[in-house]
Amino acid sequence: MSSIAKELANPDVPVSAELQNNVFITTIDKIYNWSRRNSMWPMMFGLACCAIEMICTAASRFDFSRFGMEVMRPSARQADMMIVSGTVTKKMVPQIVRLYNQMPEPKYVVAMGACASGGGPFKEGYNVVSGIDKFIPVDVYIPGCPPTPQALLNGLITLQKKIDGQSITQVPWYRAGKSEPIPVPILGPDLIDPRHAPLLRQRAAEAAAAQMNAAQPAEAAPAGPTA
Ligand code: SF4
Repeated sequence: MSSIAKELANPDVPVSAELQNNVFITTIDKIYNWSRRNSMWPMMFGLACCAIEMICTAASRFDFSRFGMEVMRPSARQADMMIVSGTVTKKMVPQIVRLYNQMPEPKYVVAMGACASGGGPFKEGYNVVSGIDKFIPVDVYIPGCPPTPQALLNGLITLQKKIDGQSITQVPWYRAGKSEPIPVPILGPDLIDPRHAPLLRQRAAEAAAAQMNAAQPAEAAPAGPTA
């Protein structure tokens, strides 16, 4: 507990009689975090089997509206939490990154299940990526294939605890240059992340140089004796 918080929690701080029962003293951080943690709006989208568990969690038996998350938004521009629920195929990655960029700050990402967290049973498959965190930042990972609704609820509570520990003076979304959009990957014969373009260029140049070196001795070889 910080020294200011300790001071505020001290019951011996004098409060005049007319203000007693009328004044609520707290810190800006507590109010700021309390309002965000209890009004997260998930984006309405699912990727594969894990999405069925997410839908279950939203329904009456488990009901994540108890945590202030009942308003699933069909538009990324109105959502502040992305639950990546399912297998992340290379074909879907550009769309996921584009949707993430469209979400307003502050925004959070939950990787639900083995596929979204690290590729799951399809890891190293020709058409899937080994976790959505290769492309967008993830706040909470939920293990399981699929995670149960209870596990998803636990992940959402973990996210709330993470938000509780944030400070308005430290959060990145008020800092210049910290909320730049992530370059959208390009889907061609394979998925290309534009952030890796310098490395890809360097590797291509190295491969081209190696090919030229391999071809040169054959060209320079002296012609054999003719009969
Ligand atoms: S983690 Fe399992 S249940 Fe979830 S999308 Fe992957 S294969 Fe399906």
